[in-house]
Amino acid sequence: MEELHVKQALDNLSNKWQIEQSIYDLHLGKRDDVSDSQLIVNGVVFHIPYLTRDKTFVLWRCLWPDCHNCCERQGRLPLTKDDISSISKKMGYDSKSEFIEKETKVSSWNETSTMNNVITTISMISLKRKINESEDQDGKPLPCRFLDDCGSCEIHPDKPGVCWLYPFSSWMESSNGRPVVHASFQLTGDCPGFYTDKTSEPMMEILEEYSKRIFSYNMSIQRTIREKYGFINIDQ
Ligand code: SF4
Ligand code: SF4
Repeated sequence: MEELHVKQALDNLSNKWQIEQSIYDLHLGKRDDVSDSQLIVNGVVFHIPYLTRDKTFVLWRCLWPDCHNCCERQGRLPLTKDDISSISKKMGYDSKSEFIEKETKVSSWNETSTMNNVITTISMISLKRKINESEDQDGKPLPCRFLDDCGSCEIHPDKPGVCWLYPFSSWMESSNGRPVVHASFQLTGDCPGFYTDKTSEPMMEILEEYSKRIFSYNMSIQRTIREKYGFINIDQ
């Protein structure tokens, strides 16, 4: 089912964008030659797919403002405690509790790590993507209400941390007793920015910038959990 959704998303993308065949196949799990190339930038471990037969890295760059597909097909906007503070102010609320009551809902979902099959159950306060968002729309792609007619975000730069991270997802793992931040691409079929290259060099500047965002987002998530604005349970 998940594969069918990804295929439909990729086919929609292909109407407007040129998607390399290897990128298309990778999204659908049809490459059997993918190895995990780990690039460590500012302490963040980026898991970049490497296609061993082609000898190419899978890289990414954002095509905005020509593209704003991630905002047109937004699945969920979980908020950290820092997001709640900044977005409630941006939307003109004096009280965070009033903002939470009117503009957010609680989302719960499972994530399975591709690295070690660990299943994580997450519950967080999420910003509604449309005013009357219903429970059964959680996780399903919707156009975000903050996307304006020019393709810009009306609450930028106070948009949720997850919007700053896209198309990466990130998590923390313990290594020799120390927490280490990891990140990998979300291959949902909604982003036309992936391409291949013989070296990872063209993406180093982006990784440098995203390593800082990703690190600080993970710290913010830790504060959010500690202060009970969200919950994470790990099931082996
Ligand atoms: S879908 Fe990808 S390329 Fe398009 S705006 Fe979002 S991140 Fe950029
Ligand atoms: S909050 Fe802004 S950046 Fe995030 S999905 Fe909505 S329009 Fe896009």
